[in-house]
Amino acid sequence: MSYFSSDFKLGILGGGQLGKMMLYETRKFDIQTKVLEASEDAPSKIASNEFVLGNLLDFDAVYNFGKSVDVLTIEIENVNTKALEKLEDEGVKVYPPTKALRIIQNKATQKLFYTDNNIPTAAFSRFAYTSEIEDSIENGGLQFPFVWKCAQFGYDGQGVKVVRKVEDLKGLPNVECIAEEMVPFKNELSVIVARSASGEVVTYPVVEMEFHPEANQVEYVICPARINEDVAKKAQEIALKVSNKIQQVGLLAVEMFQTEDDQILVNEVAPRPHNSGHQTIEASYTNQFEQHIRAILDLPLGSTENKVAGIMVNLVGAEGHTGDVIYENIEQILKLEGVTPHIYGKKQTRPFRKMGHVTIVNKDIIKAREIAQQVKETIKVISK
Ligand code: ADP
Repeated sequence: MSYFSSDFKLGILGGGQLGKMMLYETRKFDIQTKVLEASEDAPSKIASNEFVLGNLLDFDAVYNFGKSVDVLTIEIENVNTKALEKLEDEGVKVYPPTKALRIIQNKATQKLFYTDNNIPTAAFSRFAYTSEIEDSIENGGLQFPFVWKCAQFGYDGQGVKVVRKVEDLKGLPNVECIAEEMVPFKNELSVIVARSASGEVVTYPVVEMEFHPEANQVEYVICPARINEDVAKKAQEIALKVSNKIQQVGLLAVEMFQTEDDQILVNEVAPRPHNSGHQTIEASYTNQFEQHIRAILDLPLGSTENKVAGIMVNLVGAEGHTGDVIYENIEQILKLEGVTPHIYGKKQTRPFRKMGHVTIVNKDIIKAREIAQQVKETIKVISK
């Protein structure tokens, strides 16, 4: 099938920033796209050929949309998988495959998948409701501290809480969840694996992720990670194993913990372009968004090597600011060496909302990290 300058149509479920950046690549290749998204002013709207308003969790909306495209992919996991399954049965190519997406959508199922496949991960218990956790603590089945995670619909750290005492459970939603052993890690790492429909596989270099201590959100992504080669090799091997076992088609971002004694534990995966790969736009031979398109269309995969070291800084809404957004001091950061801002086009800011990111490239990773710090301290995402 010819994808380029043809009638072929790629469908994308979700119209957020990941979709917008994927669409830069379909534009580059002149591949026709159609986006399904619930919000009228989503970032993707300006870049897609067709934009359809609809609820991603609604069976009919997803099914009818899927019937109108040749290949269907996602930029967010929370979509109606029953509709995807039916579309797959009827011959629509759905990537990631529904089976993989089902495993990933639910954190309890995802964790079971790791233990079933001998993929190292932190110990955990699963609960149908948060309210059942207290019993388990009382009868000695669970020790503090642990990390509570809602099984479904968590995003950007919102469904995660460290529990050190019974009172910390107060206010948590009473939903299906897991209680995970707290990992004393020295680094959070991520590896993006691309796997094509016919099984060609490549991995990106390991990146380090530095998190905001309160928001549980990535603040800096550093590529390549400042870790030794053995640890990097182990992380890439584990990521590859996850991608192969789950039979992914497209990208799979594998988030991992590096423990004090250099064990690698898988935290979670995302079957799509990921925040830990944004620096690839400026720093890599093939950026993650182009790679995802190549993988799902079964085209030859591109080189994942870095051209230069890259650091990504997330631009999130400042605390205490809700409303129409302003990017304060953006001109100042443009004066710094190797800096490229990406503004997602969301009109409204709120605390910790992902509004954009900035990439810093430099031959020297130490220098890049210094500039990244300056960027972080200079630019502010506030409301009018
Ligand atoms: P989300 O799906 O919201 O990204 P994660 O499961 O990745 O949630 O957790 C968000 C962050 O919380 C992690 O990146 C890490 O910093 C911290 N965290 C998660 N699980 C653990 C754990 N078992 N031990 C210690 N910290 C954890």
